[in-house]
Amino acid sequence: MLVLVIVFCLVRTVRSDKEIAPLVSQCLFWLLIPLVSNMLIALSGNVEVLRFSFTVYFISSTILLYNFDMFMVKYCHFEQYKPLVGKVTQALAAIDAISIALNYVFGHTFEVSVAAGAGSNNGTPGSNIVFTSLWYHKIHLLISAVFVLIPLVMLVVRFVKSSRLYRDRYVGILIACLFSIFWESFHIFVNDTVDQSVIGISVCGIFIYIYAIEYIPSILMEEMKTTVLTTVSDGVLFFDDNRKCIYVNPAARMQLGMSTSESTRAGFEKLLALTGEDREESAQYTSKKMTCTKIEEGEEYIYDIEFHKLHDLQGKLIGSFAKIQDTTERTKRENLNKFLATHDKLTGIYNVDRFYEEVRNVLSENPDKDFYIVTSDIKDFKLINDRFGREYADKLLVRTADLFKEKVNDPLTRYGRIGSDKFGCLIEKSAFKEDTFRMAIQEVGNIGSNTVIPIIIHAGVYEIEDRKMPVSAMLDRSFIAIAGIKNDAERRIAYYEENARDEMLWSQKVTEQIDSAITTGQIVPYLQAQVSREGKVVGAEVLVRWIHPEEGFMPPGKFLSVLEKNGMIAKIDRYIWECACRILRRWSYEGRNDLYLSVNISPKDFYVMDVPAEIIGLADKYELDRGRLRLEITETIMMDDIDEKLKTIDKLREAGFIVEMDDFGSGYSSLNMLKDMPVDVLKLDMIFLKDTAYNERTKKIMSLIIDLAKSLDVPVIAEGVETVEQVDLLTKMGCDYFQGYYFARPVSLDEYEQKNLNAS
Ligand code: C2E
Ligand code: CA
Ligand code: CA
Repeated sequence: MLVLVIVFCLVRTVRSDKEIAPLVSQCLFWLLIPLVSNMLIALSGNVEVLRFSFTVYFISSTILLYNFDMFMVKYCHFEQYKPLVGKVTQALAAIDAISIALNYVFGHTFEVSVAAGAGSNNGTPGSNIVFTSLWYHKIHLLISAVFVLIPLVMLVVRFVKSSRLYRDRYVGILIACLFSIFWESFHIFVNDTVDQSVIGISVCGIFIYIYAIEYIPSILMEEMKTTVLTTVSDGVLFFDDNRKCIYVNPAARMQLGMSTSESTRAGFEKLLALTGEDREESAQYTSKKMTCTKIEEGEEYIYDIEFHKLHDLQGKLIGSFAKIQDTTERTKRENLNKFLATHDKLTGIYNVDRFYEEVRNVLSENPDKDFYIVTSDIKDFKLINDRFGREYADKLLVRTADLFKEKVNDPLTRYGRIGSDKFGCLIEKSAFKEDTFRMAIQEVGNIGSNTVIPIIIHAGVYEIEDRKMPVSAMLDRSFIAIAGIKNDAERRIAYYEENARDEMLWSQKVTEQIDSAITTGQIVPYLQAQVSREGKVVGAEVLVRWIHPEEGFMPPGKFLSVLEKNGMIAKIDRYIWECACRILRRWSYEGRNDLYLSVNISPKDFYVMDVPAEIIGLADKYELDRGRLRLEITETIMMDDIDEKLKTIDKLREAGFIVEMDDFGSGYSSLNMLKDMPVDVLKLDMIFLKDTAYNERTKKIMSLIIDLAKSLDVPVIAEGVETVEQVDLLTKMGCDYFQGYYFARPVSLDEYEQKNLNAS
């Protein structure tokens, strides 16, 4: 029976996945052998079988004790002594086993005989066996005592040192061991042949199995559960099947505002007060999760609450529990992180990604409404940053962000910072008040009024037509509108027009290519003849042309305005002036000193270079007769720095050049100007001729201008002369020279030379 129980324990141990299981199974296995051999002793009457059984019994109990020791080392957590205990016990066990086996040779351990009349079938087996213990048997017993003493010491030490909760792990085995020792001692003392105490050892083995493999200390579990419940930060409440509160842990008391003395029963009502539910409502569900907030002394607390009903295996309600988790910190942290991930740190408004997302959402949710994308850009922001420092620049940005917050506040409006000094805004068309906005951006600019650099904020407006267009492309269009006003001192807001985009791309292309166009000879001078009243060619105006490899032949109207805006026109002008000088030089070598050339000077040239120095330098380089290079300037140069400009013109005239006032009558012309401007020739703008055919008034004005010029001794040349009637009219009025298609179109140098040089 005992053997069967041990075998059962052994099988379960082998199947167990516990770390200690192999040691337990070894103990149990080695327990089986003394048990069986002891049974043989009890049952057999044959001396040889008895001798063999005793030998096996002694050896196997030694091995059993060795395994028992090894088990105990681990069970009592004395692994640090394992090598020592292992070696000592292994050596002892080996010596003992060999010595016992050698009993067959030396007969020094025991002697066994069967008394006369004894037999296996006399009813009391073993009673007639005579077992004589010899000297080595005593040593064997001593060794066994050592083997037993080691685990006993370990058990006692562990028992004393362990927490109360763990003691029963040791005490059970300790009692079983002591019990076996007493039994064994008794067996030795009475010198009984059949060792009954092996039963005690078996019981000890079963205890080992139970404690090491099956036992989970229930008090320990209880204690742990209670400790966890009272120390966790989550609140826990238990309710019975009648929803009467039977337990509230300290955390829940805090969260629900229950004092320690307040009855547990109040837990349920307090929980309902927090969740805002009524009794009936809360009875409906079997489990629920919710988030609740509580304001206490001005502080906001956020709780995640879980509620579950509990059922037994038959499905009958046994009670319920609630778990309250304080997520205030976490939620606030998450909210902050979310805010930081979607907002601009400096201004606190949306960042690019979030702005894009908001724009897409508003557009898709409001398909029936029309929207604008408005962007703003601070002019020369980099310069402001460098000159006045980051702090000032930051302040400016914050003010600009505030501008959007205050001035374009409409439920469907969204705005964000989309670049260092660039802001974007989606606004319903009807909500956008241009004047208010213009005033607002001017207002922001005023905070920089005490600085040298004026703060100018430009805004671009794009009306969204294609809602599927990426938001970035919408913003681009709005920025293109801004790019269009950058050189216009007065304008602050511009609307995107479809061709503005093409214009911008074209202007980029021209700017990029102009240098190589000059060096590769794509930029060429064309000459248009100027004719006297007598019909004699007296000179020519030099007009630039760009013979572009892809775009083909380009008149200046196609590219000069772009270059005028960014000041690069000076490069072209300087080049054309040099071409004119070179031509004059060559003509001079060829003895053609009768023709002059007239070049254009853009008002922008005066900003980027010292025009007189440049022109004088060129004339000297080509050793020109300065009077043969005529300079055409427009009155627009007089828009600012009049004194400075007058000096410049004087300088050129004193140097010997003939200065012509170009396009007179087109723009801001005034007769007054004519009086002040020290020019040698007046070029009448072609606008007059376009008008003269049907406007008598224009004719009168033209006649007056010519008379005035005559009175000032300034010769007049009329531009854009296309018909013989015009020639007649101008001749009658007293005009001195003509330039126009009627006489000649602008032509290449070759063509001009062929026509005019050969003829003369
Ligand atoms: P602009 O100085 O007033 O030059 C006269 C313009 O009138 C030329 O146009 C010429 O081709 C055109 N024209 C001449 N006769 C007639 C005519 O009978 N009928 C009509 N409808 N037009 C006539 P273009 O060559 O296209 O030049 C346009 C403007 O570009 C010039 O006006 C001048 O302001 C500027 N420009 C041309 N070359 C240069 C240059 O090298 N430097 C600078 N700064 N400006 C230049
Ligand atoms: Ca001109
Ligand atoms: Ca002109």
